[in-house]
Amino acid sequence: MLPAMPGIIERYQERLPFAPGDPVVSLNEGSTPLILAERLSERAGLEVWLKLEGANPTGSFKDRGMTCAVSAAVREGAEAVICASTGNTAASAAAYSARAGLRGAVIVPEGKIATGKLAQALMHGARVVALRGNFDEALKLVRELATRHPVSLVNSVNDFRIEGQKTAAFEIVEQLPSELDALCIPVGNAGNITAYWKGFNEAGLKPRMYGFQAAGAAPLVHGKPVEHPETVASAIRIGNPARWEEAMNAMTSSGGAVKAVTDGEILMAYRFLAANEGVFCEPASAASVAGLLVHGPAENVNRVVCVLTGHGLKDPDTALDQAGAVVACDPELSAIERAVLE
Ligand SMILES: *Cc1c(COP(=O)(O)O)cnc(C)c1O
Repeated sequence: MLPAMPGIIERYQERLPFAPGDPVVSLNEGSTPLILAERLSERAGLEVWLKLEGANPTGSFKDRGMTCAVSAAVREGAEAVICASTGNTAASAAAYSARAGLRGAVIVPEGKIATGKLAQALMHGARVVALRGNFDEALKLVRELATRHPVSLVNSVNDFRIEGQKTAAFEIVEQLPSELDALCIPVGNAGNITAYWKGFNEAGLKPRMYGFQAAGAAPLVHGKPVEHPETVASAIRIGNPARWEEAMNAMTSSGGAVKAVTDGEILMAYRFLAANEGVFCEPASAASVAGLLVHGPAENVNRVVCVLTGHGLKDPDTALDQAGAVVACDPELSAIERAVLE
């Protein structure tokens, strides 16, 4: 039998704040596929690779950060972990705290999280609190709560999350046949773009960093917080990113940019990837590809990696809303022939 690929703490221990013998809470996250997207490359006019972060154990990149944040919480003797979440942090925190035997509590904006993510958080036994408010208000409250009680806050304001998530950049460097010119990535709370930039820097690379926000939730594009963020891409429905300055620094010092894409553009890229590349991501993830297609590559950019942050199954409601209809059929050969072939 081939040995299983270990999780990111074991793979990259010397580049992470963990020592041999430290407790490790892992679901063997990371080691996700990086695939060449031929049809997308043709359409975009350059070589495009997709980093499939939906292939992580709970279906999003959050697992890379969560293995580190929860392992550190165990090392510190925490009894519970808590987070505010647009959905995927909640699903991941719930899974890793279940695995660690810790209590987990997740605060989500009421009615605003995708069905699959809610199902995950509940199944893993987390206390799910639906806040009558948005993500930004939820984050403010859990930060306050964590200063008053012995609970570990596992949002991306926690530096262990950034440490874990930077390993995706290490993997890209290992997986690509030659150097990338640019990275395209959706930006919500701005932890992930911060983490990739850190990872590339540690690996000695400086690709241009292009961050894409949804037009209705684009504080970095406007240069000021958005009070009522709105977008179909619920994972990036954030009006006041916690890692604001670090994200802007990543984009400006790499020669990249932050730009907005409309919900229509996001959904176009979402359908294109599913129908033409066989890759089903969630709407927020498709913002990276929408940004590339709408805003185009910069000069001298020939090879880009688009980060597809989460799996499409997370949000079945948006998928069914965007997809074609099911074909009903009577149980007869002639009817089947018509249904299948016409
Ligand atoms: C969390 C998340 C994002 C945004 O990442 P940030 O670190 O908050 O910028 C994008 N896409 C998906 C699917 C996510 O779960």
